[in-house]
Amino acid sequence: MKKQKTTNWPKPGQPKICPLCGREIPTSQREEHHLVPKLKGGKKTVAMHRICHRTIHALFSESELATRYNSVEALLEHSSVQNFVKWIITKPVNFSDSAKQSNRTRKKS
Ligand SMILES: [Zn+2]
Ligand SMILES: [Zn+2]
Repeated sequence: MKKQKTTNWPKPGQPKICPLCGREIPTSQREEHHLVPKLKGGKKTVAMHRICHRTIHALFSESELATRYNSVEALLEHSSVQNFVKWIITKPVNFSDSAKQSNRTRKKS
């Protein structure tokens, strides 16, 4: 007897929530971040927005990630990450940095 497999569909599942900014992640923007970089033997990944992911890697080196910022909590303690989160939550969830910011300089008043 042949069993009919109905379970091998890619399940949409529950929407993933970005641990960094706390918003839903559209599939098109989803990237896996190794909390400990792969090169350093890390296996655990968390899904996050592409832009959130890139920001982390722009801010921290692989060794900083491996030693110090190897948890979401640690990342969120960093003030640059906090500032990024404050900014990104004002953007649409599918916002990506392809729209480069203009070089308008913001004046502090
Ligand atoms: Zn990563
Ligand atoms: Zn995010």
